[in-house]
Amino acid sequence: MKYISTRGNSPAKTFTEILLGGLAPDGGLYLPEAYPQVTHAELDAWRGLSYAELAFAVLSKFATDIPSDDLRAIVSKTYTAEVYSNGRADSNAADITPLRKVSEGVYILELSNGPTLAFKDMAMQLLGNLFEYALGKQNAELNILGATSGDTGSAAEYAMRGKQGIRVFMLSPEGKMSSFQRAQMYSLQDPNIFNIAIHGFFDDAQDLVKAVSNDHAFKAQYKIGTVNSINWARVSAQVVYYFKGYFAATQSNDEQVAFSVPSGNFGNICAGHIARMMGLPIGQLILATNENDVLDEFFMTGTYRPRDTKHTYETSSPSMDISKASNFERFVFDLVGRDAAKVREFWGAVDRGGSFDIKGSDAWHDLPKFKFSSGKSTHEDRLKTIREMWQEYGVMVDTHTADGLKVGIEQRRPSLPLICLETALPAKFAETIEEALGRQPERPAKLEGIEALPQRCEVMEPDVVKLKAFIAANAPV
Ligand SMILES: *Cc1c(COP(=O)(O)O)cnc(C)c1O
Repeated sequence: MKYISTRGNSPAKTFTEILLGGLAPDGGLYLPEAYPQVTHAELDAWRGLSYAELAFAVLSKFATDIPSDDLRAIVSKTYTAEVYSNGRADSNAADITPLRKVSEGVYILELSNGPTLAFKDMAMQLLGNLFEYALGKQNAELNILGATSGDTGSAAEYAMRGKQGIRVFMLSPEGKMSSFQRAQMYSLQDPNIFNIAIHGFFDDAQDLVKAVSNDHAFKAQYKIGTVNSINWARVSAQVVYYFKGYFAATQSNDEQVAFSVPSGNFGNICAGHIARMMGLPIGQLILATNENDVLDEFFMTGTYRPRDTKHTYETSSPSMDISKASNFERFVFDLVGRDAAKVREFWGAVDRGGSFDIKGSDAWHDLPKFKFSSGKSTHEDRLKTIREMWQEYGVMVDTHTADGLKVGIEQRRPSLPLICLETALPAKFAETIEEALGRQPERPAKLEGIEALPQRCEVMEPDVVKLKAFIAANAPV
């Protein structure tokens, strides 16, 4: 299996060749040159597999340059009940992603039982083990540099802690995260994890990361890498739970289902699109946004119009506060019949701060074939959904999952079972749960009292010279 760029001007590469990199050299995103197909016989054989076995079956189709025994070992050590047992007390950790029935035909697929209580652990834990394996083979090292306002940074740290050959330098805005989020990250004592609290806002932290990445000599000398959501291995790892959820919600492989996905960077739902392209019987892919509705606007009108930071709102589902969906380019590449010149034209406009419009084109005509529906959810909707789920069904959901439920229930075709992807646990967003229900969310037993643990964190002015000096001092070359 070779991977090609959505912009058409980069040489084809293997899975391990693109594993540690980010964008393709031409600025595009990597995708398989053709999606591997899953036959009906394979679907039948996969139905009874455990999560780790299923992950091996799916990932074998993508990571064709990793020897089978190695891939099997990596996957088995990733998807264990021990790693995914941080969730609700009544969840079955051995299932890794248990399916919870909410009402007739409506299910929640639990993806948030990993170490940081968000679905990003599903892929990031695999990425940590893949990185360690690939770096070990090349006898190489990697210094991961990132900026976070919460979820991604902690998922990356819990995936990379204690890993050979890897260090993580994670910038966060000082005092802007919840005390729970701070405790989750700063209490890590692993010598390869460096938390840096920047005196400023998230954008200041992000700018510092960009400044370091733009210094190509420094970047090469200190082997700086990232773990952002365009990473292909992350997307492919997410394909697995669409299969798992499908098998759990159906009796036979002749049935179709709908998935509803709380979306920001389009990474999660991109994996659903790929699962469908591989032959999984998905009848509807429902994309839910919050008040930052750039993706809903595209599916409604055909116009993709990213917003600037001034027009990106801070909401109570903060992990979806995104106005430029970095993985969206992968879907549009398929939508325009893999015409890289079209993608270059579209993203040329986007990169200049503009927009593009497919209305009236072949792509607009073809859009229904891709089975997307979309909708948006606001703070009021979120509160209402959290209340309804709790009062009517005794299920407490977080703010992002609430957006997915609201839009999913509104958009679903009644003939299809609806699987709503749970992207975080309510314990992470206690303030809004308190507002909706007048009570605090339950916190998983393992994380009780985490705020009292000793914390380790470097506080720094937003100064790129100081940041580089810190990296140089802690990442000897
Ligand atoms: C990252 C995240 C999302 C958005 O997922 P994308 O892959 O960026 O679309 C939604 N909910 C939560 C809780 C997240 O952490």
